[in-house]
Amino acid sequence: MDENQVLDVLIIGSGPAGLSAAVYAMRANLSVLVAEKEYRGTGQIAESDQVDNYLGLPRMNGYDLGEAFREHAKNLGAEFYEGMADRFYVQDEKQEDANRIWNVHFTDGRTVQAKAVIYCAGAAHRRLGVDGEDEFAGKGVSYCAVCDGAFYRGKETAVIGGGDTALGDALYLSDLCDKVYLIHRRDEFRGSASAVQQLREKDNVEILTSAAPAKIVGEQTVTALELKDGRSIPVNGAFVAVGMQPLTEPLRGVVDLDETGYVVADETGVTSAPGFFVAGDVRTKALRQVVTAVSDGANAAVSAAEYLKQYLQR
Ligand code: NAP
Repeated sequence: MDENQVLDVLIIGSGPAGLSAAVYAMRANLSVLVAEKEYRGTGQIAESDQVDNYLGLPRMNGYDLGEAFREHAKNLGAEFYEGMADRFYVQDEKQEDANRIWNVHFTDGRTVQAKAVIYCAGAAHRRLGVDGEDEFAGKGVSYCAVCDGAFYRGKETAVIGGGDTALGDALYLSDLCDKVYLIHRRDEFRGSASAVQQLREKDNVEILTSAAPAKIVGEQTVTALELKDGRSIPVNGAFVAVGMQPLTEPLRGVVDLDETGYVVADETGVTSAPGFFVAGDVRTKALRQVVTAVSDGANAAVSAAEYLKQYLQR
């Protein structure tokens, strides 16, 4: 990375949204750098054992699909930089919208300059918020079945949550564990009906609905999950899958966020700050899927290219 270069587009995040934005921006002949935090596969998708709803590629392993996206962007010449962006500001506070340059500071002390930023940092696992969760994190409490499931081969586990992640995790673990409890606080699932049906057909899966966790208990490692109704479920592992929260902390005061922390933007990716675009799970939207992230990335890159055309004419 040439530190003196002012890039056309700096993309934050190398999940499906960021990589799709990179492909579209490269094809628009822009200079592109993709910043990604410590590389462990391309975002959340790398944690999915199977992505079964990406058009044309059924039953695809999530990690492999992400790697194919990355390879595509790389082959077009997109450059990558491992770093965590923690501050975004325009060069001169008084600078008007025309020809502003974004400065993006990284935790390693570097600052990258770009005419446009496309922010695609995604979301992080939400915590359950019960006693024992922190104490046993990494000692029986996990947020990623695909990453940690193999440690529970032949054991008993609980998956907590009622969305697609929880259902996918329970299915994945049912092939490894002797017994899997799926524990959901309501009696209706948020995730897909077909996955619920597959789980109902599994002999080693027990579904507990209207069951709210109260406490994760153990000694050296987890031994049980206690429910608010007083029941105690004996398990060696508790997989928490209760949703995600957007990674938008560094954007406070930079762009408009909604009350839950998502960046306010429609499918064009245009935000309240000129030259700052957003794509993927971090923006306000109804459906957070790989296919919508990929679509967002394309839209945001096209919006950025349009913005840069006007930028050059000023
Ligand atoms: P989600 O859809 O937001 O579901 C979170 C689940 O956790 C909900 O069932 C919620 O219960 C429950 N929950 C939240 N806080 C809780 C708490 N404190 N205690 C107990 N339960 C709690 O999150 P997700 O499953 O991670 O999915 C996120 C997005 O990614 C969704 O749009 C999903 O469709 C998508 N996704 C898609 C796929 C796929 O298609 N292959 C795979 C994974 C994820 P309530 O239902 O009562 O609110």
